[in-house]
Amino acid sequence: MSDCAGILVIAEMAESGAARIGLELLGLAKGLAQEAGQTIAAVLLGSGLEAAAAELAKCGAATVYAVDSPELAEYNPDSYLVAILNLCEELHPAAILAGHTPMGQDLMPRLAFALGAGLVTDCTSLSWDAAQGLVASKPIYGGNAMASLASETRPQMVTVRPKAGNPLEPVEPGGSVEAVEAVLPAPAITLLGRVLEENIGVKLEESCVVVSGGRGIGGPDGFDQLRELAGLLGGAVGASRPPCDSEWIACTSQVGITGKLVAPDIYIAVAISGSSQHLSGMSDSRNIVAINKDPDAYIFKVAHYGVVGDWRRILPSFTGKLASLLAE
Ligand SMILES: Cc1cc2nc3c(=O)[nH]c(=O)nc-3n(C[C@H](O)[C@H](O)[C@H](O)COP(=O)(O)OP(=O)(O)OC[C@H]3O[C@@H](n4cnc5c(N)ncnc54)[C@H](O)[C@@H]3O)c2cc1C
Repeated sequence: MSDCAGILVIAEMAESGAARIGLELLGLAKGLAQEAGQTIAAVLLGSGLEAAAAELAKCGAATVYAVDSPELAEYNPDSYLVAILNLCEELHPAAILAGHTPMGQDLMPRLAFALGAGLVTDCTSLSWDAAQGLVASKPIYGGNAMASLASETRPQMVTVRPKAGNPLEPVEPGGSVEAVEAVLPAPAITLLGRVLEENIGVKLEESCVVVSGGRGIGGPDGFDQLRELAGLLGGAVGASRPPCDSEWIACTSQVGITGKLVAPDIYIAVAISGSSQHLSGMSDSRNIVAINKDPDAYIFKVAHYGVVGDWRRILPSFTGKLASLLAE
């Protein structure tokens, strides 16, 4: 593709409107656009998009292309791919940003293949270089090193981790919303049903506070104490892999390279050693508190605050003190 220009953000719908990831990507795109002198557009696919498209237009998109059809109400790779491909052929974007979400992970490789372009996945930060264009950074070797990559092909395509960017404050009147008619193919894949993850309390990936337990918790009962603390803080409970493998807690609670990626304001790691696989799922947390009986545990190297000792003694007094402070 020659004469490529502009940054295209692939936004997503959530149950209650525009998904946060699209707003975060617009925040990142704004920073890039300032460096690169590029315009920002967003594309949103789904059914009943009016309010969500307007929100994106107020939060950084100069133009929101809304592909609104009952056939797009659920993500379907065939129809979503065709609709976005048509738009790319019209816009010739220089860069395409999508979330490293289930949809982004499925759609972007298909789109990159169709466009004959490279794709950098699971990025945690983006910058713009005058010579190389979009430069994406991502953790490698289980989070032990960072790699900076710039695709040589155009458009330059990336998927970005949730919480890598911040949504912009909405402005009035914002950008424009353009309805796009798409001629969609008969999908080769039929959605038979959706199984909603049982979600008691706050969603792990979206929670501002995460209290996670590791192998040292010793069994399922210990997690009740973590739930009590998380409940007081309005947070969610996570885990390292061993408690999930041992079925002390649901496998959907696993944090790490093969689990969920979290970046809360506070991450409390209880009896977790700090393996690179675990750290790559939580090391972007703003404040990390570690409780571990081993003073040499690696988790203390990344923790901002640490307590050395048996969590069974430390946690009840910590939770009790917090409860009394909150009661005051
Ligand atoms: C391909 C692959 C993918 C993986 N993906 C993930 C992943 O996504 N997430 C993940 O977490 N792991 C993952 N792992 C596993 C990872 O390598 C580690 O084995 C795991 O993170 C260790 O979990 P842990 O820290 O809970 O256990 P351990 O390493 O056994 O550490 C337990 C800690 O608890 C402390 N402790 C024990 N008792 C107490 C006590 N009473 N009070 C205070 N502290 C105590 C100990 O001092 C120790 O530091 C993966 C591994 C592989 C090979």
